[in-house]
Amino acid sequence: MQTLSASTQAVRLGQYIDVSDSHTEPIALTSAYVFRSAAEAAGRFSGGIKGNVYSRFTNPYTQAFELRLAAMEDAEEAVAFASGMAAITAIGLAWLKSGDNVVCSRDVFGTTLHALRHYFGRFGIEVRVVDLTQLDQWQAAINTKTGLVFMETPSNPVQHLGDIAAIAELAHAAGALLAVDNTLLTPIFQKPLQLGADLVVHSAGKYLDGQGRCIAGAVLGSKALMAELRGQLRTLGACISPMTAWLLHKSLETLDLRVRRIGDSTLLLAKWLRSQPQVGRVYYSGLHDHPQHALAQRQQSGYGGVLTFEVGHSQADAWRFIDALRLISIATNIGDTRSMVTHPATTTHGRLTATDRATAHIGDNLVRLSVGLEDVSDLKADLLQALDLRPAPATPLQRCQLSAVEA
Ligand SMILES: *Cc1c(COP(=O)(O)O)cnc(C)c1O
Repeated sequence: MQTLSASTQAVRLGQYIDVSDSHTEPIALTSAYVFRSAAEAAGRFSGGIKGNVYSRFTNPYTQAFELRLAAMEDAEEAVAFASGMAAITAIGLAWLKSGDNVVCSRDVFGTTLHALRHYFGRFGIEVRVVDLTQLDQWQAAINTKTGLVFMETPSNPVQHLGDIAAIAELAHAAGALLAVDNTLLTPIFQKPLQLGADLVVHSAGKYLDGQGRCIAGAVLGSKALMAELRGQLRTLGACISPMTAWLLHKSLETLDLRVRRIGDSTLLLAKWLRSQPQVGRVYYSGLHDHPQHALAQRQQSGYGGVLTFEVGHSQADAWRFIDALRLISIATNIGDTRSMVTHPATTTHGRLTATDRATAHIGDNLVRLSVGLEDVSDLKADLLQALDLRPAPATPLQRCQLSAVEA
């Protein structure tokens, strides 16, 4: 064979690397795959020959993440998506059509409700919103035109719970599917499919990654339901990046350790905060006097890392408290290694009307904490000094730049 020129060598030599003995799963980013013959290419495209086709819908790293997550959720199969919202949109596109209604709990993730109302509403789909905790409202709203029932439990930020088994029964009696957003508890603390749900959805950049590094989503369920979603993914294309799938595949290895540690810290902080004079109501489903604690014990094996409480009496008190925190970051995310605090009334729920906020129990003095992996005694110390509701000495800029250790 003639000597190849440098430009050809640059793209054709050193191409095949044997990574089969690498203990850590190797990372390989690829959009396409090599076929041994034209016939094999045809077979893979038609599905007659198993194998990868194109990374929009088949990729070994994505598949590895999907396999691992499916096993952990007790699902037959998982399909990964570009984001939690892409996953939720995919569910709506798969199981709602013009003339249907969708029944959804009021305190789901705000963007979920906005997606249903603003976008699905344009296609003649009626959105029926119910109180997560009131079974009679679910019963009244679900009928033979219901294509999909959607819930999130516990709700964020005020930790209302929905009875998954009971709502699944109502959905099934009407021939509808129940989808449960399990982002807050992860499969470590709650397995909705075992309780009768048909679909589980995750915003995977929260606890599944748990390190604040990526945006991704996933839907889990039976092989038949997932075949519908995978077909849709092939055509509509809201796919996860293989790089992100690789990150998530690794982070699942520590999910159990991380969320159990976070759950333990959160319960300790919830109990401790209740004894603080500046703190009003504390919302956490792990507390014995949570109005639905019995349901939490029945359908959850833990309570998660989101904790919400009232500070002082006003927005000013809540803001002063937030600005005075030195270790805990001001960020509207959940499920990072680092604890984060936010003021729901002016951030995540700021677009609601005052009446809607009141209905959702989002008071002006409400603060949400997403507990991270810091030592719980350091978190307590930070909360304690900030509860001293005097004006904060540092400007927010100094605060962000400060390394916690120097503070
Ligand atoms: C963040 C979040 C979503 C949306 O997920 P993205 O990955 O941000 O698109 C959906 N549900 C819950 C409960 C969330 O916290």
